[in-house]
Amino acid sequence: MPDDEVLHRALAHARAWRAGAPEHPVGPSAGVEEMLATFGGPLPEQGSDPAAVVDELGVGAVPGLLNIQSGRFFGWVMGGTLPAALGADWLVSAWDQNAGLRDAMPAVAALEQVAGAWILELLDLPREADVGFVTGATMANFTGLAAGRFAVLDRVGWDVHRDGLTGAPRVHVLVGAERHDTVDLALRYLGLGAPVVVAADAQGRMDPAALAAALADVPDGEPLMVCLQAGNLHSGAFDCFPELVAAAHDRGAWVHVDGAFGLWARATPRLAHLARGVEAADSWATDAHKTLNVTYDCGVAVVRDPVAVRSAMGVHASYLPDAVGPGNPYEKVPELSRRARGVPVWAALRSLGRTGVAAQVDRLAERARGIADGLAGMAGVEVLNDVVYTQVCLAVGDGRTQEVCARLTGSGEVWMSPSRWQDRDVVRVSVSNAATTDDDVRRTVAAVRAAVAGCGG
Ligand SMILES: *Cc1c(COP(=O)(O)O)cnc(C)c1O
Repeated sequence: MPDDEVLHRALAHARAWRAGAPEHPVGPSAGVEEMLATFGGPLPEQGSDPAAVVDELGVGAVPGLLNIQSGRFFGWVMGGTLPAALGADWLVSAWDQNAGLRDAMPAVAALEQVAGAWILELLDLPREADVGFVTGATMANFTGLAAGRFAVLDRVGWDVHRDGLTGAPRVHVLVGAERHDTVDLALRYLGLGAPVVVAADAQGRMDPAALAAALADVPDGEPLMVCLQAGNLHSGAFDCFPELVAAAHDRGAWVHVDGAFGLWARATPRLAHLARGVEAADSWATDAHKTLNVTYDCGVAVVRDPVAVRSAMGVHASYLPDAVGPGNPYEKVPELSRRARGVPVWAALRSLGRTGVAAQVDRLAERARGIADGLAGMAGVEVLNDVVYTQVCLAVGDGRTQEVCARLTGSGEVWMSPSRWQDRDVVRVSVSNAATTDDDVRRTVAAVRAAVAGCGG
């Protein structure tokens, strides 16, 4: 069987990579130029043995891999890899199903339907909502806002799918000052232009008084969407949903929530209070490849009103309300054909269970706390945010922040993101990998101490 050798080689390379992750340097040792030299050259005239091709990849790529699986990788917001999700992801590739069609692909349709229902239960979102599996929170934001655009225009009698946006009533969109850039990107895809920006507080939460003022500026009855946030990239802070959602709904707004990593606070009794009231919104975006630690790529688009999302995403516009059943997966996401990326979510939730997910999210937050506590007493280092969740934002005195960050990532010991927050250079630490141990926390604190000392501290 020609497959056998290829799969054996792939397994061997994958095992070597996974087994080496805890001690392998966190940063890549080779850059793109070196990788181009390894893999480039002219288009091959003749083919090669498939097993040899897999070997070429398995050996050649390693110097250029970012070790996201390391327990000391804290860059951007990137989750690790749960074993069950990895195994499931391999099967998804081996099965090679087109997950857009329900009745034709019963196994993956059922697995994704169950995964979607489990997510609604775990995050305590409306059980009647539609769940779609997309590539990430970017497309989940797009999906929720597309459903919202359809709905708010439909309410004023404008059929955006038939008549487009030219000549349509203006759709007012209000966003927080510290929203993720992909919200603006989604609005751009949707032809809605730049949003109205509502001021945020020192932790990056939308200011309720500023929202009230912005809402008052929108003429009565005009189409309106408000985009809130669960989990600020820099601080981990959550918007105050009960107050903000009620104020927005009072004005007839569609409320969308970007909860790429923060929505998972609701999976644990200890942290659920952070995202209290978020269930009253109309649509939600989250990621499975961040806090849940499912393999790339996997985002989740949740929309309360199936008619709105299926009208926006179904192949046949103007969905009939009485036709709403389980629906085809392609009616809930932008793609028609796609991989069954919800199956690794099913496997992750099956392997962790409710208590396992809660414990995982708790541990991420505890380790963020541990890092913040370790940094708090360090001369020259300032923790800038209230560490309520998985994000820690720090600065180093005497303008040494970026230098310290570069030294840290250059050391191979840890990886953190250099960033700007509220007009300051910062180093952002995102604890998003279930593999991070208490020992990793100690080593991380020690690495920061050494880097600060090395930069003249
Ligand atoms: C990561 C992130 C996104 C974008 O998600 P992708 O999975 O990269 O598409 C959007 N919003 C927030 C708050 C994020 O952290």
